[in-house]
Amino acid sequence: MTEVFTGNFTQQEPIPDAAIEAAVRVMRSGRLHRYNVAEGEPGEVALLEQEFARAMGVKYCLAVASGGYALGCALRALGVGPGDKVLTNAFTLAPVPGAIASVGAVPVFVGVTEDLVIDLDDLAAKADQADVLMLSHMRGHLADMDRLMEICDAHGIRVVEDCAHTMGARWRGRLSGTDGVIGCYSTQTYKHLNSGEGGFLVSNDPQAMARAIMLSGSYMLYDRHLAGPDPEVFEGIRYNTPNVSGRMDHLRAAILRPQLRDLATQCERWNDRYRAVEDGLRDTPGLTVVERPAEEYYVGSSIQFLLLDWAPARVQEVLRRCAARGVELKWFGGAEPTGFTSRYDSWRYAPSQPMPATDRVLAGLIDMRLPLTFSLDDCRLIARIIRAEVGAVFQAETV
Ligand SMILES: *Cc1c(COP(=O)(O)O)cnc(C)c1O
Repeated sequence: MTEVFTGNFTQQEPIPDAAIEAAVRVMRSGRLHRYNVAEGEPGEVALLEQEFARAMGVKYCLAVASGGYALGCALRALGVGPGDKVLTNAFTLAPVPGAIASVGAVPVFVGVTEDLVIDLDDLAAKADQADVLMLSHMRGHLADMDRLMEICDAHGIRVVEDCAHTMGARWRGRLSGTDGVIGCYSTQTYKHLNSGEGGFLVSNDPQAMARAIMLSGSYMLYDRHLAGPDPEVFEGIRYNTPNVSGRMDHLRAAILRPQLRDLATQCERWNDRYRAVEDGLRDTPGLTVVERPAEEYYVGSSIQFLLLDWAPARVQEVLRRCAARGVELKWFGGAEPTGFTSRYDSWRYAPSQPMPATDRVLAGLIDMRLPLTFSLDDCRLIARIIRAEVGAVFQAETV
């Protein structure tokens, strides 16, 4: 009997009841705008910021409209402007080069290794080209953050971390997003907290955070932020920081606060699923499992594997055969971007040089989401299907 998987790769869990009730309370109040609060009421957004800052062990937090907004806001807060160069990952998602383009800056792409992290030798080689690195922990893979920070500190490079896939992850115990000057997160439906759209910036730098708060559209109401710098810090910037509105509202904040309390548990549940698939894929001929370093605590909300040096037609055949059995895989190496896949050379507004080592990795890179609606049995079944289909195509003389 040929096994088929019938689950849905884009189906997340329902919003928890406590979050639904909190959302209904906000709607009943009619006060959805973050600065629309009753006398003595801090408001859901300010409380969420305080709780997220505490959870990440940082001083300051700002909740915003999306992860992509957080990235653009971080660059503006650091003074990145038109024509400036920003180092960033060649392997990332479109909102990252998009955030760089949104301030008129130009990305300098840094390659990806077979471990799916930023190539630190390539970073060191390009370190004199820019003074900001927008580091994308793409698909949750953390580079050696000690060496990365050494390189950046030695060259005076300020690091903005894109933690869209690493909320709750750690490098040698340090939470992702806290090594750089600003950490950015997304609370979009496919990330680790779900408010449909949404995001955060965190920082310990009062100047950067004060600017981010002004930028997000705080008018002169910044003293209502519970996780912002002291009002004095705003004195020097309040008249010359533009308002680029991108605030979060109370409704989304109400949905997020109960979810944040469960983050650690959810991370463990993702990792159980990740390991079930990983175990099932290990030692499949032709397939390379991405080994995770011992220093990394990851959050396995998606899994990647490599079909290194496979002909494109064979990769496509694996995708086709897996899809026919209900397993939805994404191929980052495809010539045309489809859905959420993309290669650095498909962002044609951003100049890029060919990167052969990176192209080789992307050409073999397969990606799969692991929503928490999948059971561990589902994960084992998915792994059996991938293993069988990769094996069949690998052994075939031709496809
Ligand atoms: C989702 C995502 C973002 C941006 O998040 P949005 O909230 O969708 O704007 C940034 N970087 C990566 C790697 C992402 O996956």
